[in-house]
Amino acid sequence: MKPVREMLITLVEHFPIGAFPGGTNDDQPDGGSDPFRVLISTVLSQRTKDENTYIASQRLFSKYKNPAELAAAPIDDLMELIRPVGFPKAKSKAIKEIARIIHQDYNDRVPNEIDKLLALPLVGRKTANCVLVYGFGQDAIPVDVHVHRISNRIGLVSTKTPEETEIELKRVVPKDLWKFINTVFIAFGKRICTPRNPKCLICPINRYCDYFTKKIR
Ligand code: SF4
Repeated sequence: MKPVREMLITLVEHFPIGAFPGGTNDDQPDGGSDPFRVLISTVLSQRTKDENTYIASQRLFSKYKNPAELAAAPIDDLMELIRPVGFPKAKSKAIKEIARIIHQDYNDRVPNEIDKLLALPLVGRKTANCVLVYGFGQDAIPVDVHVHRISNRIGLVSTKTPEETEIELKRVVPKDLWKFINTVFIAFGKRICTPRNPKCLICPINRYCDYFTKKIR
């Protein structure tokens, strides 16, 4: 059994806790962010880099600030504003429809239940869990490809899909640390535990890692 709390606290000490995709340093996983902004920005972040998401998100929310405004926006204008994130047609259609549903069905308040979030266009478990963590401060684990890859590489879980990884991480990670996993693993995965040639010799948790034990040591 790995000392999961010790491992994660070590990572939190080395890698700053960050924002949701498209957020700023003020957006921490404590429920202090606007759930609508978390939701829309995380949808925009699909299949693009954080830098692009930030630019598109800033452009979008400087013009359309709430569900009612976004629901009424011309689709051509939305496509132009979010063009940096790619897939402008599909994403602009999805965010406009999300805004309409939040405005009409939920009285402008993003729901804080995962099943209702998952029913929205282009919203998968990672996006829904981001909303729960950053928008509502709930204990949840957004699992993207990086969290899935690193969790398996270290040997925290042995899973085939991000969905399975979310379930297994919830079994092995203390609940009070769930909301930090995504943000810390993303920073860790960019700087140290990179997909190719991870920097294992300077990794602060290498003594706990299965990959290090099998391939490097
Ligand atoms: S030892 Fe290497 S593979 Fe293991 S967590 Fe650290 S960087 Fe990643």
